[in-house]
Amino acid sequence: MAHLSTALIHSDDKDNRVSDVAPPINVTTTFRYDNDDLVPWTERENLDFMEKTPIYSRLAHPNSTRLESIFSEILDGHAVIYSSGLAAFFAAMIHYNPKRIFIGQSYHGVRAIANILTRNFQTKQHTLDEIEQFAQPGDIVHLETPVNPFGTSLDLEDFAKKAHEKGALLLVDSTFAPPPLQNVWDFNVDIIMHSATKYFGGHSDLLSGVLVVKEEAVARQLRDDRIYLGTNVANLESFMLLRSLRTFEMRMLKQSENATKIVSFLDSNRDKYDKVLKSITHSSLQKESFVKKQLKGGYGPVFSISLMNKEQCKKFPPMLKYFHHATSLGGIESLVEWRAMTDPYIEQTLIRVSIGCENADDLIQDLANALETLQKESSN
Ligand SMILES: *Cc1c(COP(=O)(O)O)cnc(C)c1O
Repeated sequence: MAHLSTALIHSDDKDNRVSDVAPPINVTTTFRYDNDDLVPWTERENLDFMEKTPIYSRLAHPNSTRLESIFSEILDGHAVIYSSGLAAFFAAMIHYNPKRIFIGQSYHGVRAIANILTRNFQTKQHTLDEIEQFAQPGDIVHLETPVNPFGTSLDLEDFAKKAHEKGALLLVDSTFAPPPLQNVWDFNVDIIMHSATKYFGGHSDLLSGVLVVKEEAVARQLRDDRIYLGTNVANLESFMLLRSLRTFEMRMLKQSENATKIVSFLDSNRDKYDKVLKSITHSSLQKESFVKKQLKGGYGPVFSISLMNKEQCKKFPPMLKYFHHATSLGGIESLVEWRAMTDPYIEQTLIRVSIGCENADDLIQDLANALETLQKESSN
Protein backbone atom coordinates (compact mmCIF):
# COMPACT_ATOMS: atom_id res chain seq x y z
CA MET A 1 0.00 0.00 0.00
CA ALA A 2 1.17 3.51 -0.80
CA HIS A 3 1.81 5.80 2.18
CA LEU A 4 -1.08 7.89 3.47
CA SER A 5 -0.15 11.14 1.72
CA THR A 6 0.22 9.36 -1.65
CA ALA A 7 -2.97 7.34 -1.20
CA LEU A 8 -4.93 10.52 -0.48
CA ILE A 9 -3.93 11.94 -3.83
CA HIS A 10 -3.84 8.85 -6.06
CA SER A 11 -6.23 6.13 -4.83
CA ASP A 12 -8.95 7.47 -7.13
CA ASP A 13 -6.77 7.77 -10.25
CA LYS A 14 -8.46 4.58 -11.46
CA ASP A 15 -11.81 6.39 -11.39
CA ASN A 16 -10.79 9.05 -13.92
CA ARG A 17 -13.48 9.45 -16.60
CA VAL A 18 -12.09 12.53 -18.38
CA SER A 19 -8.64 13.98 -18.97
CA ASP A 20 -9.04 16.69 -16.31
CA VAL A 21 -6.40 16.56 -13.58
CA ALA A 22 -8.78 18.06 -11.02
CA PRO A 23 -11.90 15.87 -10.98
CA PRO A 24 -15.01 17.69 -12.23
CA ILE A 25 -17.93 18.71 -10.03
CA ASN A 26 -20.84 16.58 -11.19
CA VAL A 27 -24.21 18.14 -10.50
CA THR A 28 -26.35 15.70 -12.44
CA THR A 29 -28.75 13.42 -10.61
CA THR A 30 -29.33 11.17 -13.63
CA PHE A 31 -27.02 9.62 -16.26
CA ARG A 32 -27.80 8.51 -19.85
CA TYR A 33 -27.89 4.75 -20.39
CA ASP A 34 -25.49 3.24 -22.88
CA ASN A 35 -27.92 2.06 -25.53
CA ASP A 36 -25.35 -0.44 -26.83
CA ASP A 37 -25.11 -2.14 -23.44
CA LEU A 38 -28.53 -2.43 -21.83
CA VAL A 39 -28.59 -4.83 -18.86
CA PRO A 40 -31.77 -5.03 -16.76
CA TRP A 41 -31.48 -4.54 -12.98
CA THR A 42 -32.54 -8.12 -12.25
CA GLU A 43 -29.60 -9.44 -14.28
CA ARG A 44 -27.02 -7.52 -12.22
CA GLU A 45 -25.13 -9.57 -9.66
CA ASN A 46 -24.16 -6.53 -7.63
CA LEU A 47 -23.87 -2.78 -7.97
CA ASP A 48 -20.16 -2.58 -8.76
CA PHE A 49 -20.99 -1.65 -12.39
CA MET A 50 -22.03 1.79 -11.16
CA GLU A 51 -18.40 2.68 -10.55
CA LYS A 52 -18.09 2.88 -14.35
CA THR A 53 -21.66 3.61 -15.41
CA PRO A 54 -23.68 5.52 -12.81
CA ILE A 55 -27.48 5.62 -13.12
CA TYR A 56 -28.90 7.99 -10.53
CA SER A 57 -26.93 9.95 -7.93
CA ARG A 58 -28.80 8.58 -4.94
CA LEU A 59 -27.30 5.18 -5.87
CA ALA A 60 -23.76 6.35 -6.66
CA HIS A 61 -22.14 9.19 -8.57
CA PRO A 62 -18.61 9.72 -9.85
CA ASN A 63 -17.32 11.59 -6.81
CA SER A 64 -18.97 9.30 -4.26
CA THR A 65 -17.18 6.45 -6.05
CA ARG A 66 -13.89 8.35 -5.84
CA LEU A 67 -14.40 8.93 -2.13
CA GLU A 68 -14.99 5.24 -1.52
CA SER A 69 -11.81 4.40 -3.45
CA ILE A 70 -9.78 6.74 -1.25
CA PHE A 71 -11.41 5.83 2.06
CA SER A 72 -11.16 2.11 1.36
CA GLU A 73 -7.44 2.58 0.81
CA ILE A 74 -6.59 4.93 3.68
CA LEU A 75 -8.91 3.27 6.21
CA ASP A 76 -7.80 -0.17 5.10
CA GLY A 77 -11.16 -1.88 4.61
CA HIS A 78 -14.37 -1.64 2.60
CA ALA A 79 -15.59 1.93 2.97
CA VAL A 80 -19.15 3.14 2.39
CA ILE A 81 -19.75 6.88 2.20
CA TYR A 82 -22.77 8.73 3.65
CA SER A 83 -24.35 12.15 3.79
CA SER A 84 -23.26 12.65 7.43
CA GLY A 85 -21.65 10.89 10.36
CA LEU A 86 -25.06 10.24 11.88
CA ALA A 87 -26.33 8.77 8.61
CA ALA A 88 -23.37 6.37 8.79
CA PHE A 89 -24.17 5.36 12.37
CA PHE A 90 -27.86 4.91 11.55
CA ALA A 91 -26.95 2.74 8.54
CA ALA A 92 -24.89 0.50 10.82
CA MET A 93 -27.83 0.15 13.21
CA ILE A 94 -30.19 -0.74 10.35
CA HIS A 95 -27.74 -3.30 8.99
CA TYR A 96 -26.68 -5.04 12.20
CA ASN A 97 -30.08 -4.57 13.85
CA PRO A 98 -28.83 -5.22 17.40
CA LYS A 99 -31.25 -6.13 20.20
CA ARG A 100 -28.96 -4.40 22.68
CA ILE A 101 -26.58 -1.43 22.33
CA PHE A 102 -23.84 -0.88 24.90
CA ILE A 103 -22.97 2.77 24.91
CA GLY A 104 -21.16 5.21 27.21
CA GLN A 105 -20.12 8.83 26.91
CA SER A 106 -20.32 9.60 23.21
CA TYR A 107 -21.50 12.10 20.64
CA HIS A 108 -24.99 13.29 21.67
CA GLY A 109 -26.48 12.66 18.21
CA VAL A 110 -25.41 9.02 18.32
CA ARG A 111 -27.16 8.66 21.68
CA ALA A 112 -30.25 10.31 20.23
CA ILE A 113 -30.35 7.70 17.43
CA ALA A 114 -30.11 4.96 20.04
CA ASN A 115 -33.07 6.59 21.78
CA ILE A 116 -35.10 6.54 18.54
CA LEU A 117 -34.34 2.82 18.16
CA THR A 118 -35.42 2.25 21.74
CA ARG A 119 -38.61 4.24 21.21
CA ASN A 120 -39.63 2.47 18.00
CA PHE A 121 -38.12 -0.99 18.21
CA GLN A 122 -37.53 -1.49 21.96
CA THR A 123 -33.77 -1.77 21.39
CA LYS A 124 -32.26 -2.10 24.87
CA GLN A 125 -29.52 0.29 25.96
CA HIS A 126 -26.84 -0.58 28.48
CA THR A 127 -23.72 1.11 29.80
CA LEU A 128 -20.23 -0.07 28.86
CA ASP A 129 -19.91 -1.61 32.34
CA GLU A 130 -22.74 -4.00 31.61
CA ILE A 131 -21.25 -5.89 28.64
CA GLU A 132 -20.23 -8.90 30.69
CA GLN A 133 -23.59 -9.14 32.38
CA PHE A 134 -26.00 -8.59 29.49
CA ALA A 135 -24.34 -8.83 26.05
CA GLN A 136 -25.44 -11.55 23.65
CA PRO A 137 -24.44 -12.56 20.12
CA GLY A 138 -25.38 -9.93 17.56
CA ASP A 139 -25.37 -7.02 20.03
CA ILE A 140 -23.37 -3.88 19.34
CA VAL A 141 -20.85 -2.25 21.65
CA HIS A 142 -20.44 1.36 20.56
CA LEU A 143 -17.20 2.98 21.64
CA GLU A 144 -16.00 6.48 20.90
CA THR A 145 -12.31 7.09 21.44
CA PRO A 146 -10.92 9.65 21.90
CA VAL A 147 -14.23 10.62 23.39
CA ASN A 148 -16.23 13.77 22.88
CA PRO A 149 -15.92 16.31 24.48
CA PHE A 150 -13.03 15.35 26.77
CA GLY A 151 -10.52 14.16 24.17
CA THR A 152 -9.52 11.27 26.46
CA SER A 153 -8.99 7.65 25.35
CA LEU A 154 -10.67 4.35 26.22
CA ASP A 155 -8.94 0.97 25.95
CA LEU A 156 -9.92 -0.51 22.56
CA GLU A 157 -8.35 -3.92 23.08
CA ASP A 158 -10.09 -4.33 26.41
CA PHE A 159 -13.53 -3.53 24.95
CA ALA A 160 -12.93 -5.73 21.90
CA LYS A 161 -12.19 -8.63 24.22
CA LYS A 162 -15.25 -7.99 26.38
CA ALA A 163 -17.53 -7.69 23.35
CA HIS A 164 -16.17 -10.74 21.55
CA GLU A 165 -16.38 -12.97 24.62
CA LYS A 166 -20.13 -12.45 24.38
CA GLY A 167 -20.37 -12.68 20.59
CA ALA A 168 -21.11 -8.96 20.31
CA LEU A 169 -19.54 -6.64 17.72
CA LEU A 170 -17.40 -3.62 18.53
CA LEU A 171 -18.20 -0.47 16.53
CA VAL A 172 -15.70 2.34 17.05
CA ASP A 173 -16.35 6.00 16.33
CA SER A 174 -12.83 7.20 15.55
CA THR A 175 -13.85 10.69 14.41
CA PHE A 176 -11.59 12.39 16.98
CA ALA A 177 -8.40 10.64 15.79
CA PRO A 178 -8.37 9.40 12.20
CA PRO A 179 -5.18 7.82 10.80
CA PRO A 180 -2.31 8.59 10.97
CA LEU A 181 -3.08 9.35 14.64
CA GLN A 182 -4.99 6.16 15.47
CA ASN A 183 -5.24 2.93 13.51
CA VAL A 184 -8.30 1.28 14.98
CA TRP A 185 -7.92 -2.04 13.13
CA ASP A 186 -4.81 -2.82 15.20
CA PHE A 187 -7.08 -3.48 18.17
CA ASN A 188 -9.37 -6.21 16.92
CA VAL A 189 -12.47 -4.06 16.37
CA ASP A 190 -15.24 -4.98 13.90
CA ILE A 191 -16.64 -1.78 12.41
CA ILE A 192 -15.25 1.76 12.18
CA MET A 193 -17.16 4.98 11.66
CA HIS A 194 -16.01 8.55 11.11
CA SER A 195 -17.85 11.79 10.80
CA ALA A 196 -16.00 13.04 7.70
CA THR A 197 -17.52 16.43 8.48
CA LYS A 198 -14.69 16.89 10.97
CA TYR A 199 -11.02 16.21 10.09
CA PHE A 200 -11.45 14.67 6.65
CA GLY A 201 -13.56 17.65 5.52
CA GLY A 202 -11.42 19.92 7.64
CA HIS A 203 -12.84 23.27 6.54
CA SER A 204 -16.19 23.42 8.37
CA ASP A 205 -18.08 23.55 5.09
CA LEU A 206 -19.44 20.08 4.36
CA LEU A 207 -21.26 17.15 5.97
CA SER A 208 -20.31 13.54 5.35
CA GLY A 209 -19.68 10.27 7.15
CA VAL A 210 -18.07 6.92 6.43
CA LEU A 211 -18.43 3.34 7.64
CA VAL A 212 -15.59 0.86 7.19
CA VAL A 213 -16.09 -2.89 7.40
CA LYS A 214 -13.84 -5.91 6.85
CA GLU A 215 -16.16 -7.93 4.60
CA GLU A 216 -16.88 -6.91 1.01
CA ALA A 217 -20.32 -8.53 1.23
CA VAL A 218 -21.30 -6.30 4.15
CA ALA A 219 -20.15 -3.19 2.29
CA ARG A 220 -22.28 -4.23 -0.70
CA GLN A 221 -25.29 -4.74 1.55
CA LEU A 222 -24.73 -1.33 3.13
CA ARG A 223 -24.61 0.26 -0.33
CA ASP A 224 -27.80 -1.54 -1.35
CA ASP A 225 -29.55 -0.28 1.79
CA ARG A 226 -28.18 3.22 1.28
CA ILE A 227 -30.06 3.49 -2.01
CA TYR A 228 -33.35 3.26 -0.14
CA LEU A 229 -32.33 5.10 3.01
CA GLY A 230 -31.44 7.96 0.66
CA THR A 231 -28.24 8.76 2.52
CA ASN A 232 -25.53 8.83 -0.13
CA VAL A 233 -23.18 11.81 0.08
CA ALA A 234 -24.40 14.77 -2.01
CA ASN A 235 -22.83 15.81 -5.31
CA LEU A 236 -21.30 19.11 -4.24
CA GLU A 237 -20.24 17.89 -0.81
CA SER A 238 -18.45 14.95 -2.37
CA PHE A 239 -16.39 17.24 -4.57
CA MET A 240 -15.42 19.39 -1.60
CA LEU A 241 -14.53 16.37 0.52
CA LEU A 242 -12.41 15.02 -2.30
CA ARG A 243 -10.55 18.30 -2.48
CA SER A 244 -10.11 18.33 1.30
CA LEU A 245 -8.69 14.82 1.40
CA ARG A 246 -5.71 15.79 -0.75
CA THR A 247 -4.28 17.84 2.15
CA PHE A 248 -5.71 15.81 5.00
CA GLU A 249 -2.50 14.38 6.43
CA MET A 250 -0.72 17.72 6.64
CA ARG A 251 -3.65 19.36 8.39
CA MET A 252 -4.17 16.49 10.78
CA LEU A 253 -0.54 16.35 11.89
CA LYS A 254 -0.32 20.11 12.34
CA GLN A 255 -3.54 20.21 14.39
CA SER A 256 -2.35 17.32 16.53
CA GLU A 257 1.04 18.91 17.16
CA ASN A 258 -0.55 22.28 17.98
CA ALA A 259 -3.02 20.76 20.43
CA THR A 260 -0.36 18.76 22.23
CA LYS A 261 1.77 21.90 22.69
CA ILE A 262 -1.19 23.92 23.94
CA VAL A 263 -2.35 21.27 26.42
CA SER A 264 1.19 21.00 27.73
CA PHE A 265 1.31 24.77 28.23
CA LEU A 266 -2.00 24.81 30.11
CA ASP A 267 -1.05 21.81 32.20
CA SER A 268 2.24 23.30 33.31
CA ASN A 269 0.62 26.65 34.15
CA ARG A 270 -2.32 25.37 36.19
CA ASP A 271 -1.08 27.21 39.33
CA LYS A 272 -1.01 30.52 37.52
CA TYR A 273 -4.68 30.24 36.59
CA ASP A 274 -5.91 28.52 39.74
CA LYS A 275 -8.97 30.76 40.09
CA VAL A 276 -10.17 29.99 36.56
CA LEU A 277 -8.96 26.60 35.43
CA LYS A 278 -10.55 23.74 37.33
CA SER A 279 -9.42 20.85 35.12
CA ILE A 280 -8.00 19.89 31.74
CA THR A 281 -8.74 16.63 29.94
CA HIS A 282 -6.82 15.24 26.96
CA SER A 283 -5.25 11.94 25.96
CA SER A 284 -1.78 13.50 26.28
CA LEU A 285 -2.37 13.84 30.04
CA GLN A 286 -3.42 10.21 30.53
CA LYS A 287 -0.85 7.90 32.09
CA GLU A 288 -2.22 4.47 31.05
CA SER A 289 0.05 2.60 28.63
CA PHE A 290 -2.73 1.78 26.12
CA VAL A 291 -3.15 5.48 25.26
CA LYS A 292 0.22 5.85 23.55
CA LYS A 293 -0.27 2.49 21.84
CA GLN A 294 -3.57 3.63 20.35
CA LEU A 295 -2.49 7.14 19.44
CA LYS A 296 0.73 6.06 17.80
CA GLY A 297 0.66 8.92 15.30
CA GLY A 298 -0.14 11.75 17.71
CA TYR A 299 -2.85 13.00 20.06
CA GLY A 300 -6.23 14.28 18.88
CA PRO A 301 -6.68 18.05 18.40
CA VAL A 302 -9.70 18.31 20.76
CA PHE A 303 -9.47 18.74 24.53
CA SER A 304 -11.64 20.23 27.23
CA ILE A 305 -11.15 22.55 30.15
CA SER A 306 -13.51 23.15 33.04
CA LEU A 307 -13.72 26.64 34.49
CA MET A 308 -14.75 27.50 38.05
CA ASN A 309 -18.25 28.76 37.27
CA LYS A 310 -20.78 29.50 34.53
CA GLU A 311 -20.03 33.24 34.58
CA GLN A 312 -16.43 32.54 33.53
CA CYS A 313 -17.72 30.22 30.80
CA LYS A 314 -19.79 33.05 29.33
CA LYS A 315 -16.95 35.57 29.52
CA PHE A 316 -14.11 33.39 28.26
CA PRO A 317 -15.05 32.78 24.58
CA PRO A 318 -15.61 36.44 23.60
CA MET A 319 -12.19 37.37 25.05
CA LEU A 320 -10.38 35.22 22.49
CA LYS A 321 -9.03 36.71 19.29
CA TYR A 322 -8.28 33.59 17.25
CA PHE A 323 -10.94 31.16 18.47
CA HIS A 324 -14.48 31.33 17.13
CA HIS A 325 -17.18 30.55 19.68
CA ALA A 326 -19.00 27.79 17.80
CA THR A 327 -19.85 24.13 17.95
CA SER A 328 -18.14 21.41 15.89
CA LEU A 329 -14.47 20.59 15.46
CA GLY A 330 -11.92 19.36 13.00
CA GLY A 331 -11.65 22.49 10.86
CA ILE A 332 -8.49 24.45 10.11
CA GLU A 333 -9.77 27.27 12.32
CA SER A 334 -9.64 26.91 16.11
CA LEU A 335 -12.93 26.86 18.02
CA VAL A 336 -14.04 26.95 21.62
CA GLU A 337 -17.50 26.01 22.75
CA TRP A 338 -19.23 26.44 26.07
CA ARG A 339 -20.55 22.94 25.65
CA ALA A 340 -23.77 23.53 27.57
CA MET A 341 -24.95 25.43 24.48
CA THR A 342 -25.58 22.23 22.50
CA ASP A 343 -25.07 19.19 24.70
CA PRO A 344 -27.93 18.49 27.11
CA TYR A 345 -25.98 15.78 28.94
CA ILE A 346 -22.79 17.67 29.83
CA GLU A 347 -21.50 19.39 32.98
CA GLN A 348 -22.30 23.10 32.91
CA THR A 349 -18.78 24.57 33.19
CA LEU A 350 -17.06 22.69 30.41
CA ILE A 351 -15.37 24.46 27.51
CA ARG A 352 -14.44 22.25 24.57
CA VAL A 353 -11.45 23.38 22.54
CA SER A 354 -10.82 22.32 18.95
CA ILE A 355 -7.39 23.27 17.67
CA GLY A 356 -6.84 24.28 14.06
CA CYS A 357 -3.86 24.99 11.82
CA GLU A 358 -2.89 28.42 13.13
CA ASN A 359 0.49 29.02 14.77
CA ALA A 360 0.55 27.29 18.17
CA ASP A 361 2.33 30.17 19.93
CA ASP A 362 -0.33 32.64 18.75
CA LEU A 363 -3.04 30.36 20.11
CA ILE A 364 -1.22 29.92 23.42
CA GLN A 365 -0.81 33.68 23.79
CA ASP A 366 -4.50 34.16 23.06
CA LEU A 367 -5.63 31.60 25.65
CA ALA A 368 -3.13 32.91 28.20
CA ASN A 369 -4.41 36.49 27.85
CA ALA A 370 -8.00 35.46 28.46
CA LEU A 371 -7.14 33.21 31.40
CA GLU A 372 -5.00 35.92 32.95
CA THR A 373 -7.81 38.48 32.69
CA LEU A 374 -10.27 36.11 34.34
CA GLN A 375 -7.70 35.21 37.00
CA LYS A 376 -7.23 38.90 37.88
CA GLU A 377 -10.98 39.49 37.98
CA SER A 378 -11.46 36.58 40.34
CA SER A 379 -8.62 37.73 42.62
CA ASN A 380 -10.17 41.16 43.23
C1 LIG B 1 -19.82 15.22 14.65
C2 LIG B 1 -19.74 13.86 15.18
C3 LIG B 1 -20.66 12.89 14.78
C4 LIG B 1 -21.80 13.18 13.86
O1 LIG B 1 -21.35 13.53 12.60
P1 LIG B 1 -22.17 14.45 11.57
O2 LIG B 1 -21.32 14.44 10.36
O3 LIG B 1 -22.33 15.81 12.21
O4 LIG B 1 -23.49 13.77 11.38
C5 LIG B 1 -20.51 11.61 15.29
N1 LIG B 1 -19.52 11.30 16.15
C6 LIG B 1 -18.63 12.21 16.55
C7 LIG B 1 -17.56 11.81 17.50
C8 LIG B 1 -18.70 13.52 16.08
O5 LIG B 1 -17.80 14.43 16.49
